[in-house]
Amino acid sequence: MAILLLMPTHAIRTVELPSGVRIPALGQGTWQMAEDARHIDDEIAALQVGIELGLRLIDTAEMYADGRAEQLVAQAIAGRRDQVYLVSKVLPSHSSRTGTIAACEASLRRLRTDRIDLYLLHWRGREPLEETVAGFEALREAGKIGGWGVSNLDVDDIEELLAVDRGAAVQTDQVLYNLARRGIENDLLPWCRTRGLPIMAYSPIERGELADHPTLARVAARHHATSAQVALAWVLRHPDVCAIPKASTPAHVRENHRALDLHLGAHDLAELDHEFPPPRRRVPLEMH
Ligand code: NAP
Repeated sequence: MAILLLMPTHAIRTVELPSGVRIPALGQGTWQMAEDARHIDDEIAALQVGIELGLRLIDTAEMYADGRAEQLVAQAIAGRRDQVYLVSKVLPSHSSRTGTIAACEASLRRLRTDRIDLYLLHWRGREPLEETVAGFEALREAGKIGGWGVSNLDVDDIEELLAVDRGAAVQTDQVLYNLARRGIENDLLPWCRTRGLPIMAYSPIERGELADHPTLARVAARHHATSAQVALAWVLRHPDVCAIPKASTPAHVRENHRALDLHLGAHDLAELDHEFPPPRRRVPLEMH
């Protein structure tokens, strides 16, 4: 696949999808970008710095800023489309077979490209999963998407998905996962692991809140790092989990990139477990 040849896979760690495609373990989110015209230049600069550093997975959605986040991504990746692994999402209300195809085509126009690398169902709505999968597969056959996945699906939903015709082509489940939201460690994460399905962790800094946490600051101080870096390194300690923090300044992107070099030791992990205990029983999947 052309993308693989062009991506500097040596530069940052990658996570392998079931298709064999390897994607950067650390990417960039875009929720709440393009909402305020005063910040757009910084947001584009941040995404571009990230691309230069190897954070070449960009996560967006038709929902974000009513399509303007996809337009902003188009500006950020202009002239370097082939260096980027592009993820976007269809809203549940558009996720019938024909609706999924139409939503993808609208996203392609906003993104000013002819393919989305990974196209996700944003969360489960009323449309039967068969319908969405049929739309995804038609898009894949037409070369408009490289693969497809889901978001915010818990174990029971994914089991249902796998029973649908061609449902086993799912490439990832993008879910809320960070130190303060560890519920998936009880069931979804091990379940996905045994089936070779990687998790894409959204809100890895808990929407910025973990960047100010005193326990993370204590751990960070031992490594001359920052709390945000500890939050990201903690998510990235799993070889089959990628993280997509959103950062709207080049300084935050540079800081987040350095989380790839931070390795938490047993003492750090124990201190973090004490403050943020792992789940002892099943916790229904949380969402932002
Ligand atoms: P997040 O990445 O956990 O946190 C973003 C916040 O952290 C922003 O306020 C950002 O500030 C701040 N931040 C980033 N780097 C920082 C640093 N080094 N130091 C201090 N603060 C820092 O939360 P998120 O945006 O909710 O999640 C990330 C992405 O996941 C989203 O953008 C979106 O692409 C995706 N997502 C998907 C779903 C879904 O349902 N599938 C739901 C939520 C999110 P600045 O902006 O000022 O840099």
